[in-house]
Amino acid sequence: MRIFDPHIHMTSRTTDDYARMSAAGVRAVVEPAFWLGQPRTNPGSFTDYFDSLLGWEPYRAAQFGVVHHATIALNPKEANDPRCRPVLDLLPRYLDKDRVVAVGEIGYDSMTPEEDDAFERQLALAVEHALPALVHTPHRDKARGTRRTLEVVAASGIAPERVVIDHLNEVTIELVHGSGCWAAFSIYPETKMSPPRMVEILRRYGLERMLVNSAADWGVSDPLLTLETAEAMLKAGFDEDDVDKVFWRNPVEFYGQSGRLDLSAVAGADEPTFAGSSIKRGGE
Ligand SMILES: [Zn+2]
Repeated sequence: MRIFDPHIHMTSRTTDDYARMSAAGVRAVVEPAFWLGQPRTNPGSFTDYFDSLLGWEPYRAAQFGVVHHATIALNPKEANDPRCRPVLDLLPRYLDKDRVVAVGEIGYDSMTPEEDDAFERQLALAVEHALPALVHTPHRDKARGTRRTLEVVAASGIAPERVVIDHLNEVTIELVHGSGCWAAFSIYPETKMSPPRMVEILRRYGLERMLVNSAADWGVSDPLLTLETAEAMLKAGFDEDDVDKVFWRNPVEFYGQSGRLDLSAVAGADEPTFAGSSIKRGGE
């Protein structure tokens, strides 16, 4: 079994996690830029973080046979902090870099006017840089946040198939399904989705444009919940090809739209890869 975790914050994890993931079949990850818990007080903290997502973390991952790409953005929570907002002006030079496969995480935390502005500006950047967008949905007031998210995405002019709406559940999938956007689910040990609930959703809505991630970070989370969900799928009657679609081919298809997904280092990769190395852009 080969697993591609399309949303995981490895910066917050240890080498023990990389070793366990590698042994479980995780061969590729995408790490979205996010809120680090401790509020950042200036744009320099962001650029050091972005550089680490594009330099140090891929190096660390490679030591365990895991291919690492990133998504770059000003996250919804810190979009509210005037000290952090100048980061929006620094994004264009990062969005041109080889290992950046989407703009994200963007979207809503508390649905403030500042978040509206950062969300709209970053969707416009995604269009401008021909990148997909990874959209986080709020943990509070989720249905209203998801509805508003879909309205803003539709108004932005980005093609819906280039957008993934993340952290969905049984309620919000109803809103996203049929929108043309990709639907993503974060499997957490205590909150959000569990493996059995996820399997039920896949049974009900099918496997097209569906992504499943661990979203593991600095909170209570588990990078192996991807594997656990894959095993729950098999137990529930899905076959190996179904599991491969959800946990490998779907994330490859979604992030492959960036033209920069390079899986050539994946051992035994038998699927066509999307080598982005031919697209050399400035800044490297
Ligand atoms: Zn996240």
